[in-house]
Amino acid sequence: MFTRRQALFHLPYTALLLGAPELARAADTSSAGILAVRVWPALDYTRVTIESDIPLTTKQVFVTDPPRLALDIMGIDLNPELKELVAKVKSDDPFIQGVRVGQNAPGVVRLVLDLKQAAKPQVFLLTPVAAYHHRLVVDLYPANPIDPLDALIAGMKKSPTPAADPLGDLIAEKTKKPPQVIANVPPPTLSRQAADRLIIIAIDAGHGGEDPGAIGPAGTKEKDVVLQMALLLQNKINGQSIAGNTMRAFLTRDGDYFVPLHQRVQKAQRVKADLFLSIHADAFFTPTARGASVFALSDKGASSSAARWIADKENKADSVGGLNIKVKDVEVKRALLDMSQAAQIKDSLTLGDGMITEIGSMAKLHKGKVEQASFAVLKAPDIPSILIETAFISHPEEEQKLRDPQYQDQLTSAVLRGLTRYFSKHPPLARNRSV
Ligand SMILES: [Zn+2]
Repeated sequence: MFTRRQALFHLPYTALLLGAPELARAADTSSAGILAVRVWPALDYTRVTIESDIPLTTKQVFVTDPPRLALDIMGIDLNPELKELVAKVKSDDPFIQGVRVGQNAPGVVRLVLDLKQAAKPQVFLLTPVAAYHHRLVVDLYPANPIDPLDALIAGMKKSPTPAADPLGDLIAEKTKKPPQVIANVPPPTLSRQAADRLIIIAIDAGHGGEDPGAIGPAGTKEKDVVLQMALLLQNKINGQSIAGNTMRAFLTRDGDYFVPLHQRVQKAQRVKADLFLSIHADAFFTPTARGASVFALSDKGASSSAARWIADKENKADSVGGLNIKVKDVEVKRALLDMSQAAQIKDSLTLGDGMITEIGSMAKLHKGKVEQASFAVLKAPDIPSILIETAFISHPEEEQKLRDPQYQDQLTSAVLRGLTRYFSKHPPLARNRSV
């Protein structure tokens, strides 16, 4: 039996199927206003963005059975951009089954997103920033959010590691239960525990989705080349081991979607990452600037005005990428229960020094030392964190290098050597086991 609300929403749907002659007529007299429509599917969440010349007013209803979101957009008429949304949703979208769009009343367009799973939608507006006009954003989050630890464990089950039971530690952490100990078998010795230790490297490909990052003179997007390098680095890290400790890479994003800065940090903390590497390839205000750079956090101001400029630019990612400010306020306040970052910064500088040496052996460096500034993404108090600007995408030659598979290969190999150099001097401590 339909509830009254469901019945209300069922009636117009049948008349809303795209392609009906009356809708084609409505499109002809469209009052425009919609500039672009984009869809960013990912397992974390699927985002639909509707960009317009004025802020849009909406009313929305979420129906759970079957799950769908109906969104009435006021003050517009159906136009070709909105109709394109139907074709932009791919059949493998994790959340959206299909889209129906139609003129519900004069000046009111109804958008219905039929969903594949129960979702928690967030609908919010973003004011113009960078190259964007006004944006209406619909984020569809899973009703049961994906735990980064589950993602890491699932990835490890697919490709078993040579070490004895590092997976057991992670599963124990996940379930909050001690690993099973068979009676009469002595618990592992300390050295055995240390040798079984899994080293987890969080690789953070900058930007993504709505946030392209910097764009090179030939049109190369930072978000694309840094994801390519992150995936390459992941392959190189997985399967490596240092003194019996298996290394595992964890990606804060593995596709073309946006992840807010504080969530990148939280994901790394959730998987208990040993290190955090943020990979970028930014533009600079002078197009002649070139060379790779390595940055660590600073808690007392930037080491140079250039470092401050780059940190400010990176920290703007949330406003370009599109963050629901109501959610951000709650999460950032929680994160601000900060502890001293002095130890983290010291370790990050050591890591950065080795990284500069290795990267400097195969690429031009912007400066021969680790720079420091207040990067939001480097603020995990408990994880040594660095940000690598792999080259300046604003420099035409460096843009070409960033696209070159050989350069990407050499650079990621240098980063891997930088990691092993760090761990050879700072072996990871045994994880606390609750046996
Ligand atoms: Zn960047």
